[in-house]
Amino acid sequence: MLVNAAGPWVTSVLDAAGGGREPARVQLVKGSHVVVPRAYVGDHALILQNSDRRIVFMIPYEQRFTLIGTTDVAVASLDEARAIGTEETRYLLDAVNRYLAHPLFTRDIVWSYTGVRPLYDDGSNNPSETTRDYTLTVDDRDGVAQLSVFGGKITTYRRLAETALDRLQPWLRHRRGNWTHGEPLPGAVPDPAIAADLLRARRPALPRPLLEALFRRHGALADELLGDARSPADLGRDFGGGLTEREVAWCVEREWAACADDVLWRRTKAGLHMNVAQRAGFAHWFDRQRHRPATIA
Ligand SMILES: Cc1cc2nc3c(=O)[nH]c(=O)nc-3n(C[C@H](O)[C@H](O)[C@H](O)COP(=O)(O)OP(=O)(O)OC[C@H]3O[C@@H](n4cnc5c(N)ncnc54)[C@H](O)[C@@H]3O)c2cc1C
Repeated sequence: MLVNAAGPWVTSVLDAAGGGREPARVQLVKGSHVVVPRAYVGDHALILQNSDRRIVFMIPYEQRFTLIGTTDVAVASLDEARAIGTEETRYLLDAVNRYLAHPLFTRDIVWSYTGVRPLYDDGSNNPSETTRDYTLTVDDRDGVAQLSVFGGKITTYRRLAETALDRLQPWLRHRRGNWTHGEPLPGAVPDPAIAADLLRARRPALPRPLLEALFRRHGALADELLGDARSPADLGRDFGGGLTEREVAWCVEREWAACADDVLWRRTKAGLHMNVAQRAGFAHWFDRQRHRPATIA
């Protein structure tokens, strides 16, 4: 059987696999976020009511920053969604400036990113009103089940996965039932504060900020990532922003990072804590390693 969970690429995978019973109905909706230096005092997130009946949130981000998002822009193709547009930037800044005592300007933005929601097209003309729920389609192609996932949320992924298996039940010989509900995520621990203390106690010669950053990113897996490293020299190159060669090797081997941006922005957010020269230096180093990926000791 084939489970097509290719996200925004769901229809191209479906087409490559011979197409479904009916033409796939997907609406691509671009959403962008901007990151600015911490814009307000406090550890809380804020949900701001916007004048177009949407909400915009501000969330404390990576200690020193605030994340602002998001937008809803229907696009015809993925090419139209490579980066945030000027109007989206304006929209987000206007939305938060209605509430902030000190307004934010474009020059305050230190980073932005854009994603695409592959929503199931329910015929709605307003991208904000298209269902955010997931839709699963199943085809039997000569006895081979082909299931495609449209839409969805990170928050509902376990339920989605279990529903997918329910829909595939006719093709499955055995089914374990629903068991994911209480399953911890990799690296999750019941008491993070205690686990972070233990990590520091086991590695007294490693800088505290570095251990804290690794714990935030990897949870209990930070111990495995560090392996036999006891001193900063054991971590290999220091690229700045708390990123070391040891963590890069982990991102490549365990998390399939394939390019410098995967490491800087998608596996870690170390890019935010580095300057332009450090990011360029890392990208140059990473590209040279490409054919010779670093390995975990
Ligand atoms: C702007 C925005 C804001 C969002 N906000 C929220 C939110 O606040 N809360 C929430 O719960 N959810 C939110 N979501 C939704 C959430 O991000 C998605 O539901 C979730 O990421 C979907 O995960 P996925 O693994 O199904 O798909 P994806 O994360 O899109 O992964 C699809 C994968 O398939 C791979 N792929 C593509 N083609 C192929 C191929 N031919 N072969 C092999 N692999 C392939 C891609 O490389 C990719 O890794 C938001 C999404 C966006 C875009």
